[in-house]
Amino acid sequence: MNRHITSKLIDGKAAAARVLAEATLEVRKMKAIGIEPALAVVLVGHDPASQVYVRNKVLRAEECGIRSLEHRLPADTREAELLALIAELNADASVHGILVQLPLPAHIDEHRVLQAVNPLKDVDGFHAENVGGLSQGREVLTPCTPAGCLRLLQDSCGDISGKHAVVIGRSNIVGKPMAALLLKAHCSVTVVHSKSANLRELCRQADILVAAVGRPRLVDADWLKPGAVVIDVGINRVDEDGRSRLVGDVDFDSALPQVSAITPVPGGVGPMTIAYLMKNTLAAARLQQPAPSTLALRTEATCPSIS
Ligand code: NAD
Repeated sequence: MNRHITSKLIDGKAAAARVLAEATLEVRKMKAIGIEPALAVVLVGHDPASQVYVRNKVLRAEECGIRSLEHRLPADTREAELLALIAELNADASVHGILVQLPLPAHIDEHRVLQAVNPLKDVDGFHAENVGGLSQGREVLTPCTPAGCLRLLQDSCGDISGKHAVVIGRSNIVGKPMAALLLKAHCSVTVVHSKSANLRELCRQADILVAAVGRPRLVDADWLKPGAVVIDVGINRVDEDGRSRLVGDVDFDSALPQVSAITPVPGGVGPMTIAYLMKNTLAAARLQQPAPSTLALRTEATCPSIS
């Protein structure tokens, strides 16, 4: 890789290593005052991609010193059984974070299950109370992928207040919480999606462009303002030249000469998602302590009040 590319590249692996080192240090401090942070991961069924995600999450937790509990349930698990397990984990004071790996089998109501998780243990930030809290600017657990994207932006650009950020995609997992976090960071935010008119023109106005679409190489140089910072959340598998590879929503080679900084795929946003799951587990453990004064509560994983 030449120097030109290196200087523009936002290295998600290196950033994630820094976040994990912070988490490891924090775990040590917690253990020193008698708190053993623990994360429960629940997987229903045998989806191969989900199995890999769960394995990676458990491994990262263990590397940071976070105790992990795996609950692997068969694909024909009844919704009532899953809800009973979640109730058990909610009631267990030694479990600080609960993650239900998505997608769930079709016979289970995903919304009902996510709503059953205690909001203080909701390390994915998907519970309606946390979603609402984020949009109100309250201090809540925040979805890991957008939290990781914000950290990448702040690490590489410093203060982003006043910038025009355009988010492509309005999903509950990435697009909407990303927009809320950018607003909290005092950006002017535009959200565009599959029904937006003038998509390309709107994207061309962005100082910061976050692409969370799921369409391989949708965005090329023609969509970008010169000097824009690009965060590519997309992970798309394509078969090219007889081999299978991962590409983002941004055409990296076309975009590179136009941008001031860009995340690669793979090695950009992906590693930060798991790193922020660890941060959220620690934030959850702190939020559950009876006397908040025992530890400083604030971290980047929580969202302070804004006006
Ligand atoms: P989603 O399918 O839930 O949402 C996609 C959004 O893109 C929708 O809001 C839709 O309106 C919009 N969209 C679709 N086609 C469009 C088009 N042609 N033009 C403009 N907007 C369009 O997907 P998601 O869960 O938000 O994930 C988006 C991408 O990010 C996927 O590739 C996913 O794999 C990836 N992802 C990566 C991570 C990570 O850790 N790196 C985490 C979550 C998701």
